[in-house]
Amino acid sequence: PLVDRTALIAGNWKMNLDHLQAIALVQKLAWSLKDAKHDFGEAEVAVFPPFTDLRSVQTLLAADKLSLVLGAQDVSPHEAGAYTGDVSASMLAKLEVRYVLVGHSERRHGHGESDELVGKKALAAHRAGMVPMICVGETAEDLEQHGAAAIPLAQLTAALAELPADAEFVVAYEPVWAIGSGQAATPEQAEEVARALREALRDLRDDERAAATRILYGGSVASQNVAGFLRQPNVDGALVGGASLKAEEFSRIVQFK
Ligand code: PGA
Repeated sequence: PLVDRTALIAGNWKMNLDHLQAIALVQKLAWSLKDAKHDFGEAEVAVFPPFTDLRSVQTLLAADKLSLVLGAQDVSPHEAGAYTGDVSASMLAKLEVRYVLVGHSERRHGHGESDELVGKKALAAHRAGMVPMICVGETAEDLEQHGAAAIPLAQLTAALAELPADAEFVVAYEPVWAIGSGQAATPEQAEEVARALREALRDLRDDERAAATRILYGGSVASQNVAGFLRQPNVDGALVGGASLKAEEFSRIVQFK
């Protein structure tokens, strides 16, 4: 990275692992990450388990003073009340959740979440003292019709319209065609969009926020390709799905060289 942005490696477990399996994975991870160091300084490592696992993982992290950070995969835009099935930001914050994914393509496409809703969820996370990780990305069709950056830029602009100017956030650029497909973007493709997003942040926020904000790449990240992304000046980390479910593979990713 051009400025000092702590790399962030985030493991999005999606709807995998019950709380017992979660405990087993985190214990293995903790063991292999004990002395993890790499070329880019200490990376921050976060895991995003399903809601039902959060309490177990939180307890484990607190008891063993593990340096893993906790994330959640979604949040309600509402504070409390008659919203059956929703989980509020304050509930997540109480579990020491630091990051909250908003606008993952599986929410946008599988659950019809609009840009506005994504922004409202980001706001809910921010208000509860957490950091929203705003996911943006173009489909294969978008890519063909509008190029790579247009849709991610529009999605980021819409989400940030809901957030106060001083709110911290992370951006995760995840081309939809690269998610779970084994077809990762090239590091150059990721850098091109990350650079465009950072450029837009200067206008949407200011130079300082643009320079300080971490922009991650996600979509078929694995131990073999992670270093190529992290070497790009505007890519500050990775959002990892499938490859975050295996302790050995995820530790290799975190220790990218
Ligand atoms: P993948 O998923 O690494 O399995 O492609 C990434 C994501 O959806 O966050």
